[in-house]
Amino acid sequence: MVYTVTLIPGDGIGPDVTAAARRVLEATGVKFVWEVAEAGAGVMAAQGTPLPDSVIESVRKNKVALKGPVTTPVGTGFRSVNVALRKSLDLYACLRPCKTYPGVPSLYKNVDIVVVRENTEDLYAGIEFERGTPEAARILKLITETRGKVREDSGISLKIISDFGSRRIVKFAFDYARQNNRKKVTAVHKANIMKFSDGLFLSVAREVAKGYPDIEFNDVIIDNLCMQLVRNPQQFDILVLPNLYGDIVSDLCAGLVGGLGVAPGANLGEGLAIFEPTHGSAPKYTGQNKVNPMATMFSGMLMLRYLKEFSAADRLEKSLAAVISEGRSVTYDMKMDKSGGVGTSQVADAVIEKLIHH
Ligand code: NAD
Repeated sequence: MVYTVTLIPGDGIGPDVTAAARRVLEATGVKFVWEVAEAGAGVMAAQGTPLPDSVIESVRKNKVALKGPVTTPVGTGFRSVNVALRKSLDLYACLRPCKTYPGVPSLYKNVDIVVVRENTEDLYAGIEFERGTPEAARILKLITETRGKVREDSGISLKIISDFGSRRIVKFAFDYARQNNRKKVTAVHKANIMKFSDGLFLSVAREVAKGYPDIEFNDVIIDNLCMQLVRNPQQFDILVLPNLYGDIVSDLCAGLVGGLGVAPGANLGEGLAIFEPTHGSAPKYTGQNKVNPMATMFSGMLMLRYLKEFSAADRLEKSLAAVISEGRSVTYDMKMDKSGGVGTSQVADAVIEKLIHH
């Protein structure tokens, strides 16, 4: 079997980390044809858009992509390439497995949490009304008439959570649990305060859970979750969260297991998936062969599992774990004192060396 995969190198450190990940994926023995699709700062100058339609078409056609980070310029009016990709392909689930491997720079051991974040709704849907606009005034008037006085000098961001959006993300979490031999799904919310948005998410989650009697289900309030994660993260298995909590908690969990350099991710929709590291384009390190490619390599491991290449995925995971635990061929961020470390491509060499023996 040969897989045609869209490869979006991205910009900043993206080309460095994706090149390294591509080399290790090829070294697993699985056959890939990479369809390279450029997005980000580089194409912006040439084509006038950071996300040409051809990139979206390529992912639609191949159904699977490996992506490096892309810079979102602040204050230029350009939409984030990442948000645009997720929206146009309806990649509604963001998957962030967070696992400690012996040797990662972390205070914690034996953490193995999968964060499943809803990607399309909630406060991040972008439905906002600027203070002082006629639309904001109309909404504020309606609120004042029906719910009591609110200040006229308010801006508004709407938190919208639907039955449909909640159902498909919770179902995704349970299906992922079954497919990956996970035992428990925890729904995260603040339903005690936000009865009609988080409350809906929770009641749908409870309903969906009934269809999966083989998987344990519980729920936890977001503030309690944060405290529990810091005190005893080992108690959690799969967390399923609305968009905003999911965004924050996935970074918290990345921090528990060694930081951005080792935190992989995937954005998934119906029959479509983009695998990418959690970190951004770290522009100051562009072209320096310095940063950690492991987050992208672990994302590649998730891609192998998605493609049902389980034995290649397991060998890649073992090889990465071996390089991490030996601690010789790792980048600066894997050192507790953040000094020393080898370059990006040397990490790839070391992982490939291990793959030959695993
Ligand atoms: P960032 O993740 O790019 O970098 C923050 C810091 O984390 C870096 O300065 C570096 O010290 C460290 N770091 C990040 N990746 C690392 C790696 N692989 N190895 C070692 N250290 C690493 O976050 P930022 O500076 O907030 O964002 C930079 C740009 O990236 C912004 O334009 C942002 O919008 C974009 N971004 C893109 C994505 C994406 O494409 N999915 C995600 C997040 C941020």
